[in-house]
Amino acid sequence: MKKSSKIVIAILSVLIVLIVGFLLVWQLDVFGIFKDYKAVPEITLNGETDITLEGGTPFEEPGFSATINGEDATDKVEVDYKSVDITKVGTYTLTYSLSNLKGRNTVEASRTIKVQDTTAPTITLKGDKTVKVKVGEEYQDAGATAADKVDGDLTKSVKVENKVDTGKKGKYIVTYTVSDAAGNKASAEREVIVFKQSAGGVVYLTFDDGPSFNTIKILDLLKKYNCHATFFIVGQNIPGNEDILKRMVDEGHTLAVHTYTHDYAAIYKSEAAFWEDNLKTRDLIKKVTGVEAKFMRFPGGASNTISANYSKGIMSVLTTQCKDHDYEYFDWNISSGDANADGLPAKQLYDNIMAGIHENYETPVVLMHDTGAKGTTVTAVAKVLKVGLSEGYSFEGLDETVSPVHHGVNN
Ligand code: ZN
Repeated sequence: MKKSSKIVIAILSVLIVLIVGFLLVWQLDVFGIFKDYKAVPEITLNGETDITLEGGTPFEEPGFSATINGEDATDKVEVDYKSVDITKVGTYTLTYSLSNLKGRNTVEASRTIKVQDTTAPTITLKGDKTVKVKVGEEYQDAGATAADKVDGDLTKSVKVENKVDTGKKGKYIVTYTVSDAAGNKASAEREVIVFKQSAGGVVYLTFDDGPSFNTIKILDLLKKYNCHATFFIVGQNIPGNEDILKRMVDEGHTLAVHTYTHDYAAIYKSEAAFWEDNLKTRDLIKKVTGVEAKFMRFPGGASNTISANYSKGIMSVLTTQCKDHDYEYFDWNISSGDANADGLPAKQLYDNIMAGIHENYETPVVLMHDTGAKGTTVTAVAKVLKVGLSEGYSFEGLDETVSPVHHGVNN
């Protein structure tokens, strides 16, 4: 054999040995030194891979696990949570990736996250939900803000429908509507009550504790002078006097609820007892006249302290519960004084009333009583109407456009 052939064979042999050696070491990794290079990671996702999310709701990871060479590698998984924008409607791919220790093999798993928007925006009124404006004054709408979980601030998209006419007393509704990019709509309302400026103008005469035969005399006087008033009725006085109530309605007066029994101990025993007594009267008035009373007056007024003898703090609760029963309650700011005793001189009652009217309260509400024992009240009313009208006052029944007169609550 030539010398050169021997060299070739030697080289080839070395190569074969190297290749076989390489195969043994690398492919079969007989020494285990390439384990980390060759390791294939695995990722297992828990839960659904297709997830639908309501916009604005944070994505909650249903969990996943991962291994490299059978060993736990969950904490080495990289998840690109930033690729899912919960504030924008769309379909996102959330990718989980894991590389083996030397960055050689990388596996990926993914979920499809669909962000949808089916939630309506919310509208928040600025200012009060009910606003009162005097006739002739300017009404400035305070506006509203709107926000959507997906679209964010929608205040600029709020449409306002405002038909308030401050030239005319009445109840108006301002409507706010807004819709988000996905077409979900929301609306809100504000009640605007345009009321008459009463000072020097309208006087509200109110009569408690009737009806009685004196009520008929008062109705005659009101009719004679073409005036109106409000009657806070005691339910137990209605049977036998149904015609008086019907007449009040026919002649345009305001029927309101006072109580059924007027028994302080019974009605101020508990909230339930109070409303049972009160609503019994409202129901009876409705049964007799078809009219549902919108106004009420607490026996003793909202400021009474007598109720504390039967239930501490009950007035604070009852006054807030009126709205639940669709009631406005009225106290008074002018007292005729006829509650102090029966048969007080008519002149004294008249003087009290006229002094009060001349105080020019924004809403003058006069407290009087029309039970059978209050004959001098009738005489006083005759003079109040006559003189009041000559001084330019008018006398009207309470209605929803009148600003409520409330005493401070003392129990
Ligand atoms: Zn009373």
